[in-house]
Order: sequence, then C-alpha cells, then structure tokens
Amino acid sequence: MTRKIPSFIEIYKSLIKIPTISSENKLIDQTNKNLIYLLSNYFSDLKFLIKIKNIPYTNKFNMLASIGYGEGGLLLSGHTDTVNFDDTSWTQDPFQLIEKNNKLYGLGVVDMKGFFAFILDIISSIDLKKLKKPLYILGTANEETDMSGARYFIQSTNIKPDCIIIGEPTSLELITAHKGHTSYSLEVIGKTAHSSNPAIGINSIDIMHKIINKLISLKKYFKKKYFHKDFSISYPTMNFASIQGGDAINKICSSCILNFEIRPTPGLTVKKIEILIQNKLKKIIKKWPDRIILKNLFFSVPSYEYSSEKKILNTIEKSCKLINKTVDYCTEAPFFQKIAPTLILGPGSIQQAHCSNEYLDCHFIQPTKNIFEKIIKKFCY
Ligand SMILES: [Zn+2]
Repeated sequence: MTRKIPSFIEIYKSLIKIPTISSENKLIDQTNKNLIYLLSNYFSDLKFLIKIKNIPYTNKFNMLASIGYGEGGLLLSGHTDTVNFDDTSWTQDPFQLIEKNNKLYGLGVVDMKGFFAFILDIISSIDLKKLKKPLYILGTANEETDMSGARYFIQSTNIKPDCIIIGEPTSLELITAHKGHTSYSLEVIGKTAHSSNPAIGINSIDIMHKIINKLISLKKYFKKKYFHKDFSISYPTMNFASIQGGDAINKICSSCILNFEIRPTPGLTVKKIEILIQNKLKKIIKKWPDRIILKNLFFSVPSYEYSSEKKILNTIEKSCKLINKTVDYCTEAPFFQKIAPTLILGPGSIQQAHCSNEYLDCHFIQPTKNIFEKIIKKFCY
C-alpha cells in the first residue's frame, strides 16, 4: 500500500508547529483554524469525508472526519488546542518538535495534538476497504477553557457510535471515571462606615465568617454522603482558594469576596451542588437580601463515570490487556457520554501535560499503535 500522507514524525512536526493556544485571556487566545484545516487535508487524503463546524460566536472550529457507512462504529476524539506556555521555563521552541533521549518534546505532544499523528499513522497502514462500520475522528476546540467544542458537538451531531475514545495522555491506562470541577465567587456587599460605630455600617467580613462556617459544614456533608471507593481522594473536595476584603483599619469592611472550587465525585451533579449551597446559605441570604452574590467563576465540568454497556468495556480491556482506573483531572467525557459510551485512553503521561518542556516518552509509540489498531479493527471490521 502506498502511503498517501507524510511519515508519522513529519505529521507530528506539522501539528506541533501550528500554535492553537486556548486561554481565558483574550490577548493570548488563538484560533485553531489552521490546525483543523491541516488535519482535514490529511484525513481527506485518506478518503475520509470532512465536516468542519464553527463554534458559534467564536473563531474556533471542530472537525469530524468519517469513513465507512452504517450504524455504530467507533469515534476517536482529541482536542486540537493547548494551554499557554511559560516562555521563561521552556528550554526550546514549544512549536518545534524535537527528539532527544528517546523523547519527543513540544507543546501539545501529549496533551494532545500528538494523538492525531498516531491515528493518521495507524489509519494509513490498515486496509480501510475492510471497514464494515464507520470510523469517525473528531478534533474539538476549546477543551482547555470552556469545553465549548465538545458541548457544541453533542448538540449538533446525529451520529451514534458504539464507543467514543478520548486520546488524552493516560499512560495507556483505560480511564473509566474522573471527578468534575466547578468554581464560584461569592461576594458579600456590606456597608462601609467609620469603625468607631459598628451600628451604622454592615461588616461584610462578619457575614462572610458565617457563610464560611456553613460551607465548611457542607464540605463535611460532601465527605460523608458522596464517598466513592475508586478514587484515591475518595470524596468531593472543597477548596477555599482566595479571600479579599477591606481597605483601611478604621473602616467597616464593605465588600468581601471568597473564591472557592469543588471537585465532585461521580454521583454529585453540578446542579445538586448549587442546590446544596443555596440551602445551606438560605437563612443568611434571607437575612441579608441582595447583599450576597454567588457567581460561577468558570464553566463547570461534570464528573464522569462509565456506566454504559459492560460488554464494550470488557472488549477493550480484554483485547488490549488493559485495566481500568480513575483519575483526578477533567476531560470532555461527561459531555460525550450523553451520545455514546465513552472511555479515555491515550499515549503519554498526564504528568507532562501543562508543563514546560512537555514530552512524549517514545516507549509509548509502538504500544499505542498496536492498541488503537486493535480497537479500530474490533469496532469497525
Ligand atoms: Zn488534554
């Protein structure tokens, strides 16, 4: 079979070369358009059909490449964006793939543009004429910020694959559950006055103190009620991240802001968290109407747990000799799970993700190719 696309390493280089940083900071945030078009060209050279969709109100894009017809099949997914990089601690150009000491260095080598180089390499080496079920490859946008690519995809697609695998760097372990993440900013608006007369002001720190006590009791409730044996930290965590208030020693503090995050275990939904917070603070809010403002800081990611057909999980575990595990980081899995059974499995270690001098240990290369070739054949041949 003659190769229609460049070599594994050439493809890898070309993917790393295109910056696709996602950031909450608009000055840093970049479009992923050029990478989406590059991937589309590779997949269309392999005879895949390409659909590119713009995420509404953004300059970001998703790509769905598909080959084969019929129901079911397999979807392999990766996000096309990366986090930002710290210029002072990278010792090389983050956008140039460098091979050194049996490692491949570059921004996105494991998290996770590199996954597409693996997929393209495997697909170019297997007989696509033997496909009996469709094989889909999805490249999403904005995973590192609001996951709008994954959320838009599940709203706008009508495909129903038998299984979705997200190729995040799991060290080739099969991930079947992770915690979620949600974060809040809670502001108490008091009334400032001269500190010599407490009666004429409303001290926001006094009210915040009562709120914090309530949140601590909620934290204990989470620990008791939402225990999950499969996690090393076996309960939802709540972290008070920062608190700010007051500006002068002789003034009654007018505004106090607490930022905190919660990482729920599977079983505790984001909606439930919000109801529980409201219930806990009900009396305080009633006493101080319009003085307590609770806002989401970032987009929430629900927790995830594989709860679909055991058969699919068993097929992958057995044929690839994998054992399943839980992790503490978030992925797009809770969103994809709404349309099909979803698992997380990919090359490289999460230890290197979001780090300076991100690298892929080359020991992962051959096993990754073997595993995904098997999986594609299992689901699509
Ligand atoms: Zn990632």
